[in-house]
Amino acid sequence: MSVSNRSFQRVVLKLSGEALREVGSQDNISPEIVERIALEIKSAHDAGMEIAIVVGGGNFWRGASASARGMDRATADYVGMMATVMNALAVQSAIEVEGVPCVVQSAIEMKNVAEPFIRRKANKHLSDGTVVVFAAGTGSPFFSTDTTAALRASEVGACAILKATMVDGVYNADPKKDPSATRYETISFRRCLSDQLAVMDSTAFSLCMDNDIPIIVFDLNVADNITRAIKGEDVGTIVTNEA
Ligand code: UDP
Repeated sequence: MSVSNRSFQRVVLKLSGEALREVGSQDNISPEIVERIALEIKSAHDAGMEIAIVVGGGNFWRGASASARGMDRATADYVGMMATVMNALAVQSAIEVEGVPCVVQSAIEMKNVAEPFIRRKANKHLSDGTVVVFAAGTGSPFFSTDTTAALRASEVGACAILKATMVDGVYNADPKKDPSATRYETISFRRCLSDQLAVMDSTAFSLCMDNDIPIIVFDLNVADNITRAIKGEDVGTIVTNEA
């Protein structure tokens, strides 16, 4: 099955924190990169797509790394969730500059800067054509923002999760180590599991599999890829129950 056969109207775009940082820069967030992402989101929005975004926080902080260096894991994870809020505000601001309505909903209440996460309100915003950025992950430690994307996609009835990454899809081996590695156009959840291909962490992955939400893995560094992915065009690899 091809991505282009699908008619995605409502999607969840997962942006890692690292996607917002310029490679090699000291700055955690690059305003130029965020602007480029916002422009691509505007194009897809103008085409009528309903867009939810889950942002990570890895450009600032990862709970597991801090915990490995001695910090209490739950506390370290709360710091990580706070980091996602900073990224969410930067993304919201850039999207609004492009004239697209955008709200941030935070899973940890922070009423001066964001709405609380309320599923019914998120659905209303999306139906009204407002972009919704989900911040603070699930609101609970020991989870990831990939799991947040899977959870929110299930809650708002999204047709797919679009995972913007540094690689252009899922390969049968690590393309950095094995030059003969080949990229899948489509692959099933089961095949990923049996071949131990890590697309997302296991919690996120099983949530997508169980709730039948396809994951599209694509390279966010290719111009227009975010717009094309949101519009359901063929980019990267589609992971689905049907392959
Ligand atoms: N996090 C968490 N619960 C969640 C989502 C995120 O505790 O539901 C924390 C966790 O410490 C994680 C950090 O927030 O390392 C940043 O999220 P993530 O690593 O998923 O960001 P990304 O890799 O996508 O930038």
